[in-house]
Amino acid sequence: MRHLRRILPLFSNKYSIVSARSCQVRRYCDTSDKKKGDEFSLLKSNVNNKIEPNVLVPNPVERTLKSMGLMEKEEFDNIDPDIPRFCDVVIIGGGVVGSSVAYWLKESVPDGLEVVVVEKDLTYSKASTTLSVGGIRQQFSIPENIQMSLFGAEFLRNANRYLNCDDLLPPEIQFHPHGYLYLASEAGAEKLMENVTVQNDFGAKVALLTAGQLKSKFPWISTEGVACGAYGLENEGWFDPWSLLSALRRKNHYLGTEYVEGEVVGVEDLHLGVNYSGQEIMESRAPRDLRIRTKDGKVYPLRFAVAVICAGHASGEVAKMMGIGGGNGLFVVPVPVEPRKRYVYCVHSQDGPGLDCPLVVDPSGVYFRREGMAGHYLVGSSPEEHEEPPTDNLDVDDNFFQEKIWPKLAERVPSFNSLKVKSAWAGHYDYNTYDQNAILGPHPIHRNVFFATGFSGHGLQQAPAAGRAVAELIIHSRYQTLDLTRFRFERILYNDRLIETNIV
Ligand SMILES: Cc1cc2nc3c(=O)[nH]c(=O)nc-3n(C[C@H](O)[C@H](O)[C@H](O)COP(=O)(O)OP(=O)(O)OC[C@H]3O[C@@H](n4cnc5c(N)ncnc54)[C@H](O)[C@@H]3O)c2cc1C
Repeated sequence: MRHLRRILPLFSNKYSIVSARSCQVRRYCDTSDKKKGDEFSLLKSNVNNKIEPNVLVPNPVERTLKSMGLMEKEEFDNIDPDIPRFCDVVIIGGGVVGSSVAYWLKESVPDGLEVVVVEKDLTYSKASTTLSVGGIRQQFSIPENIQMSLFGAEFLRNANRYLNCDDLLPPEIQFHPHGYLYLASEAGAEKLMENVTVQNDFGAKVALLTAGQLKSKFPWISTEGVACGAYGLENEGWFDPWSLLSALRRKNHYLGTEYVEGEVVGVEDLHLGVNYSGQEIMESRAPRDLRIRTKDGKVYPLRFAVAVICAGHASGEVAKMMGIGGGNGLFVVPVPVEPRKRYVYCVHSQDGPGLDCPLVVDPSGVYFRREGMAGHYLVGSSPEEHEEPPTDNLDVDDNFFQEKIWPKLAERVPSFNSLKVKSAWAGHYDYNTYDQNAILGPHPIHRNVFFATGFSGHGLQQAPAAGRAVAELIIHSRYQTLDLTRFRFERILYNDRLIETNIV
């Protein structure tokens, strides 16, 4: 890619003569022109299983120039010197996951690799990253999730080293390692114990406590209906999501990654799934050209070699633009990631638990953690499947707290009976409807399109490991550190669910 950018000006004179004679200058804007419409209808007819004997053969000069990436210069009239036209890797979505992928790519290959992050809203006002609760735990049931979060903790503890930028002040991620406490009823006790064994086998430090031990360690807890609890002794707690994102972005700028504020709205020249004589043979042209709409409404092209979809809860939609979840054959299978609204309430309690308060997960699913040291707590709970609220807004439902959360909270911590709600917000989980776990790695056909999405409520803590993993796949074509093969997209094709039982 880089060398094309360098040689492009050398060709420009000669090339404009060719293009003036043989190529129609295409206006690159939202409303597609007629020529493009015709091309698409031709492709569509192929996709619909019809062989077109009289397929329009492209001008060979035009085709060659196009395949070399030299023709696009003439095709678009929306050119802005501040928006790159070419890159090696484009990352769609600049939240914590996309920023982590960018970080690991440039950390591994500082020179000669152009990485561009396209982010539609650099204020991150609706991104999951900034609306999350910032928890990190190793109390999962799947080994890979445990390992990813162990690395997440290592990354946070050494953020000064990883995210250091020479003369600038070291980043302050505000990691509070106060642990997680998972409580289990009689019915859930066996599963909790099983999980603790796996967690400790894979390097976590989690202690199993009886109800009596819980009561003496955390006297403010009511153990009514609790059979046992699992308490993380190290590497668990919470941190400031905004600080982590800011530090990653700062380091990425330092390493030469470019952030472009714009929304990916489409992909050019997609050619998907052609069937020949009843036998399914997939033919596809790998996506190469993004269309990016900036805030002023203009649309710009960006040609890439590799794309990584890190668009959080919008990842399913972005994948559709690449034909994933909309074509024939394997392209029918979508990226099963969608938004699920989750509320967070900030409450104040005069006599609530003090400094020893971990992030507590009640058997009912209600969780809380301390926020600062002045009697504030963050509280939440995921609704039942049939209660899922609409996702077209970020309005908060106060009744959800009153009816579903407060009674459980007060049962578990009697002093919460007299709490006051101070504020609340809602954010969207990047929810993987298939098995609520990350999807990592390339698409099986579009091998230049990678995913790092679908974390379903644990993506913040897994971002360091997920970013490193995807960068390894892009650079080395295989995992170098943690083997996260089981998170590949193919598991959906093979119907091989990876069920994580500890989802909050
Ligand atoms: C209430 C709540 C609590 C949570 N608590 C925790 C927790 O305690 N611990 C934990 O680990 N995780 C938690 N999570 C989950 C975690 O926040 C997410 O898994 C994680 O932030 C996902 O990061 P991301 O970068 O993939 O997504 P995001 O942060 O959503 O970033 C995706 C970015 O993509 C951009 N984008 C989308 N579409 C396009 C497009 N077409 N073109 C360009 N850009 C686009 C968006 O603007 C966005 O900035 C929580 C989430 C919520 C909502």
